[in-house]
Amino acid sequence: MYQEYAWKKYNGKSLDELNKFAEEYKSFISDCKTERLCVAKSIELCKKAGFKDVKDVKELKAGDKVYAVNKNKNIAAFVIGDEPLTSGLAILGAHIDSPRMDLKQNPLYESETLAYFDTHYYGGIIKYQWVTIPLALYGVVVKKDGTSVSISIGDEENDPVVGITDLLPHLGAEKMQKVAAKVIEGEGLDLLIGSIPVADEEKDPSKKAILNLLKDKYGIEEEDFVSAEIEVVPAGKARDFGLDRSMIAGYGHDDRVCAYTSLMALLDTPKCKKTTCAVLVDKEEVGSIGATGAASKWFENTIAELISLTEDYSDLKLRKALTNSEMLSSDVSAALDPLYASVMERKNSAFIGKGICFNKYTGSRGKSGCNDAQPEFIAKLRKMMDENEVNYQTSELGKVDQGGGGTIAYILANYNMSVIDAGVPVLSMHAPMEIVSKVDVYEAYLAYKTFLKNA
Ligand code: MN
Ligand code: MN
Repeated sequence: MYQEYAWKKYNGKSLDELNKFAEEYKSFISDCKTERLCVAKSIELCKKAGFKDVKDVKELKAGDKVYAVNKNKNIAAFVIGDEPLTSGLAILGAHIDSPRMDLKQNPLYESETLAYFDTHYYGGIIKYQWVTIPLALYGVVVKKDGTSVSISIGDEENDPVVGITDLLPHLGAEKMQKVAAKVIEGEGLDLLIGSIPVADEEKDPSKKAILNLLKDKYGIEEEDFVSAEIEVVPAGKARDFGLDRSMIAGYGHDDRVCAYTSLMALLDTPKCKKTTCAVLVDKEEVGSIGATGAASKWFENTIAELISLTEDYSDLKLRKALTNSEMLSSDVSAALDPLYASVMERKNSAFIGKGICFNKYTGSRGKSGCNDAQPEFIAKLRKMMDENEVNYQTSELGKVDQGGGGTIAYILANYNMSVIDAGVPVLSMHAPMEIVSKVDVYEAYLAYKTFLKNA
């Protein structure tokens, strides 16, 4: 069902199922605004579906269900298939990091009796979108004794929120002359967090008050921020969007919408011919680097572990398993926004409501940095999607030379596996409030299940 609007397929029971899935997804992104929270929730979902931690397993056979976790920030779940691992896996790979601001290592300061947290933004954000909106703080503070304190402020009913102030228009004449990239500067993204000075303190009395509060509530000292990971994200839950409730507005659709649908597709698909996998990675928005990014050896090591639990291990077997694998790089696409249609080339654009979007290539300036999936693999996927009546579309990331971007596709393709980007079209990508269509979310879930079964 290529390039057709998907809504007309749904009515009665099928529409109820679609809406139920959308509700579950809404609570997932409302509750999981950091990588760590996504991993914790994914572990919970895996356990509920009968998956075991691979660390607790002595051997694996067809039908066994396991998951592996990396540093609390990546998870991969597997259903062992009938064929040996060397014949390759069917992999769904998504990222669970989203654009945001992070607290600096020395974040706290005071100015004119107002207390602030200084931040460094993470990923590609349009900075002016992040001021004068309610923000929440999530993360961990790890103390020298190794204990870890969880922080979560801003999303409970009675929680306070924090935020970044902006200049009043009355005094904005000079500022309004600036180009959009300079209206709010990176160093201007400082969070106002308090204003009550401690009575008997001369130097930085408001900062002192915040430190007292942090000590009382969390048992942390100023220096503990050195080993903390606190993320600043939009406060509030994901909501139905549109008078017809057809869409979902929320923070972090990129790429938790593909992470959730990929994980659920894996959990809901019984044993297949091939071993099936959903892997959720970190750091995509900053180049997939680091121990928890897609370029880390962790995923490869995990496959090695699986082989050693199913048969005698050899390096050649690992290479065969990876090279024979097929993967959907589950990541979002930019949907055509009629208000900004001029940056798109309409024949090769993704549309809200036409289902999962396949991106043969991303990249920029003549496809530089792209994965460019092989037509043989795409043909196989077309057949699968058509035979299973999944609505799908294809797109490029905007007009030629308009800009560009990348995903994790090329990194896994380095193993010589077949990989293509496939995900949900998004409006206002990377904004504090991104928008997806419920029907595209559900079609992505169906497409991922179809792929796992037929790879
Ligand atoms: Mn993405
Ligand atoms: Mn992104």
